[in-house]
Amino acid sequence: MRYDIAVIGAGVTGSMIARELAKYNLSVVVLEKENDVAMGSSKANSGIVHAGYDARPGTLKARLNVAGCAMMPKVASELGVPYRQNGSLVVAFCDEEMAAVQELYARGRLNGVEHLYVLGREQLFSLEPHLSPAAVGALYAPDAGIVCPYSLTIAAMGNAMDNGVELKRNFPVMSLADRGASFEISSPGETVEAAFVINAAGLYADRVAAMVGDGFFTIRPRRGEYYLFDRSIGNVVRQTVFQAPTAMGKGVLVTPTAHGNLLIGPTAEDIDDKEDKKTTAAGLEKMTLAAAKSVPGLPLNGVITAFTGLRAVGSTGDFIITQSPTHPRLIHAAAIESPGLASSPAIAAYVEAMLQGMGVLTHKRREFNPYRAPIPCPGKMGEDERYSLIAHDPAYGRIVCRCEEISEGEIRDAIRRNPPAADTDGVKRRVRAGMGRCQGGFCLPLVTELLSAELGIPMDQVTKRGPGSEILSGPVK
Ligand SMILES: Cc1cc2nc3c(=O)[nH]c(=O)nc-3n(C[C@H](O)[C@H](O)[C@H](O)COP(=O)(O)OP(=O)(O)OC[C@H]3O[C@@H](n4cnc5c(N)ncnc54)[C@H](O)[C@@H]3O)c2cc1C
Repeated sequence: MRYDIAVIGAGVTGSMIARELAKYNLSVVVLEKENDVAMGSSKANSGIVHAGYDARPGTLKARLNVAGCAMMPKVASELGVPYRQNGSLVVAFCDEEMAAVQELYARGRLNGVEHLYVLGREQLFSLEPHLSPAAVGALYAPDAGIVCPYSLTIAAMGNAMDNGVELKRNFPVMSLADRGASFEISSPGETVEAAFVINAAGLYADRVAAMVGDGFFTIRPRRGEYYLFDRSIGNVVRQTVFQAPTAMGKGVLVTPTAHGNLLIGPTAEDIDDKEDKKTTAAGLEKMTLAAAKSVPGLPLNGVITAFTGLRAVGSTGDFIITQSPTHPRLIHAAAIESPGLASSPAIAAYVEAMLQGMGVLTHKRREFNPYRAPIPCPGKMGEDERYSLIAHDPAYGRIVCRCEEISEGEIRDAIRRNPPAADTDGVKRRVRAGMGRCQGGFCLPLVTELLSAELGIPMDQVTKRGPGSEILSGPVK
């Protein structure tokens, strides 16, 4: 099959770019090595829509962060994705850190962040009464927000697919060859052709680039470990609370999530293995101690899970969004480390502008629909609305996940709509079945049954996250 454009990688970068391309009269395919979208950095991160004061002025990171932050409320609303403009604080605990806060303020101004304030102790505590009494002041960015990163990615890809983009999963690109008029792109099972290619392969973008001889950048993984707390303490802080930054990153944060949980983390540890997503006792302990500096006394018995995300740290120190120097029909969208999530709508627009400049995007589709309605969620509805939904379709009244109150109807929707959930983790990310206190202990067998029935496959072929992660090993009786 020959396409106009192939996007390699279905993280938030590839998915937002695919959605942008869906606005044009073109055939577009997204090639993803995993069984689902949002399986790389876009699955496990802090979910902060940074305001844009952190990146070095003049960089692509600075420019696209500020633009992306401004675009996010509209994009999230069009895509029906949980987003809240809760504001962020960079808290200082001594005069030296207060100087760092002033530097961030000046940098933010240079980057074009419009609303930015340096707060004294009293103003700070009126915003966040549970902070450590040692805090002396902070930088306040009211435009910052929180978004669910995998919901954003899934919704962007779903919207792209609803508008004609094709997604091929379990398609690990192993070779990319320029044949003159088009590229030949091969996985072990299939080859496709495309006139233009966007390399949005996250941690592996350097390996994809190397397939055509581009060796001008490398990507290293940097591990970040987190604790997620249940919703009972989700409002300990209202704003996202950072500490003054270090050379390794923005420091450990304490933040509510877009779903109302509390998140602390991440650590920052350079590693070699691009697949090493383990959590470590040492990392979690160090991170918990660091978080206690901002908000002491967080109850660790409220932790429902620990997880690790891997940042794709590029060798240039900035996002690498550029045409290949040797194969101009290939665009690299690489080294998209933080603030890549916040910047993602602007990254997509930037790539769109590049393709326009190359004369590729000429005809817009008038029928493009930017909206994607969220899956109906009876647990969040008022009584009348819920009863009428259940009367119309009783599946919305059968609760499968007790912790999060998720119904059979919602799980069925997650398996049927674009991009369809194909495994139990995919269901979990789409409708939160298994995300609660018991982490799937109760609902996993029921979700497995539903996947089996909806996909028309035997129970023992249902997986947690794609081939090789089958949930059942065989019958017991
Ligand atoms: C710990 C941590 C905290 C962060 N916090 C924030 C934050 O608060 N705010 C913010 O703005 N940003 C944050 N980020 C950064 C943000 O997560 C990333 O910028 C963003 O997710 C990058 O998206 P991506 O699509 O470029 O990469 P990914 O999400 O990694 O997607 C790349 C995709 O390519 C696929 N792929 C790879 N190789 C191949 C191949 N050969 N063939 C086919 N497919 C392939 C992968 O499977 C993956 O799905 C954080 C990142 C981490 C790790």
